[in-house]
Amino acid sequence: MEKSYQELCKRTAELIDLGTAGAVLGWDQQVYMPPGGAEARGRAIATIAKLMHETLIDPRNGVLLEKLAPMEKTKGYDSDEASIIRLARRGYEKAVKVPPEFTSRMNVLQSECFDIWLKARPANDYALVQPTLDKLFGMCREYADFFPGYEHPLDPLMDNHDYGMKASEIRRIFTGLRKELVPLVESITACEPADDSFLRMNYDDAMQLDFGKRVVSDFGYDFNRGRQDMAAHPFTIGISINDVRITTRVHPEYLGSALFGTMHEAGHAMYEQGGDPKYDATVLKGGTSIGVHESQSRLWENIIGRSKPFWEHYYPGLKKEFPKQLGKVPLDKFYKGINKVQKSLIRVEADEVTYNLHVMLRFDFECDLLTEKLSVAELPDAWNDRMEADMGIRPPTDADGVLQDIHWYNGIVGYFQGYALGNIMSAQFYDAAVKKHPGIPAEIAEGKFSTLHSWLVENIHRHGCKYTANELLERTTGGGLDIGPYMKYLKTKYGELYDL
Ligand code: ZN
Repeated sequence: MEKSYQELCKRTAELIDLGTAGAVLGWDQQVYMPPGGAEARGRAIATIAKLMHETLIDPRNGVLLEKLAPMEKTKGYDSDEASIIRLARRGYEKAVKVPPEFTSRMNVLQSECFDIWLKARPANDYALVQPTLDKLFGMCREYADFFPGYEHPLDPLMDNHDYGMKASEIRRIFTGLRKELVPLVESITACEPADDSFLRMNYDDAMQLDFGKRVVSDFGYDFNRGRQDMAAHPFTIGISINDVRITTRVHPEYLGSALFGTMHEAGHAMYEQGGDPKYDATVLKGGTSIGVHESQSRLWENIIGRSKPFWEHYYPGLKKEFPKQLGKVPLDKFYKGINKVQKSLIRVEADEVTYNLHVMLRFDFECDLLTEKLSVAELPDAWNDRMEADMGIRPPTDADGVLQDIHWYNGIVGYFQGYALGNIMSAQFYDAAVKKHPGIPAEIAEGKFSTLHSWLVENIHRHGCKYTANELLERTTGGGLDIGPYMKYLKTKYGELYDL
């Protein structure tokens, strides 16, 4: 038995090593690679993906997993051994259901659609990408059918990003959230808009980056086991537990971009840096789901980084760095400016109150596209109608509407809900931490984060992928997904800001 377990660990370590090689190639592709390298890099990444798939579906893995079933039982659910077997089994059973022929066909279509989207978006030409997108959604339905017995065709797709979540559960959560959010958005946007003009002035790039770096070092992001580079579309990549890199973009005319973007990515990175080192070459490495990952980035970016206590400590320093821009802006005005709420067209630029409405639109359309209640041809009009209903603004172009996000055009379906789940869970986790350590808010006002960071490491980060999102919630809050703490957070914060 022990020998079979060692063999399984050895095989998964090789799989993780291949993933590591792929991650470095992918990071370099987005950070340093000259454009000329694209073709060869694409080929190399595809070869690694193919090798990983072949390694994963090797029938010997199935034999090993069968042999290890008794060990999984006797060691107990929480043990490292049972968790490694459980996660390896989950990956194997999913992978063998999908024919390799389908996977390579999907990869080809994904990169084809992505290349067309790169041209279609700036040209505002949805028709150019529509036939390929149609094929992609067709292949997503085909993928779902490899997992018969699903409640909704979105479930098997969503399972790859938010394991165990179902469309019906997400719909139930979103219906409740929407009922509370819409009146809040209405009452805030009926008030006089916050002034954030001082954020939109010329700010020195290097000084913006330095300030952000100092803040995330204080948070607990370890630059000895990470680094920061520039990227057009910021992301975090966990190459190993001791090498978790963040990327940022700087806008010389907008302070918010690099500052809050750095906090966001550092939140993701601290999650991965906080994993138990002994999980590094195992299936337990990394974050457990998109929802939990986003809960960490949003906790640091929004709950901490856009809070009053945080800026009571950091604002004097920021003012000193940028006296020309902020010298005459009092703290209250700055705090309101960084929390400006407005109905807008672009998801990635949305504030934390309206953001979830953007996610719900995408989730509803994914459901309807997969069940063919909505066709890809009807999508742009449906999008614009929904934006008009939700935001009161009709996108003037498809580039500001249906073409704005990369996800679908890259074959990623079943992902968007994770952003809203992250918002909801961020408040649940933060509440649980403060309940255990009531001094946390006072520490934040002194620029101290170690109590909060340690709680997150102890209760979430160190477990890696061992527990699902729902299990982590159960262990830390005693219950499941609950919009209560999140809505309370929004209503308290924005009630005070806008005198509601
Ligand atoms: Zn994120």
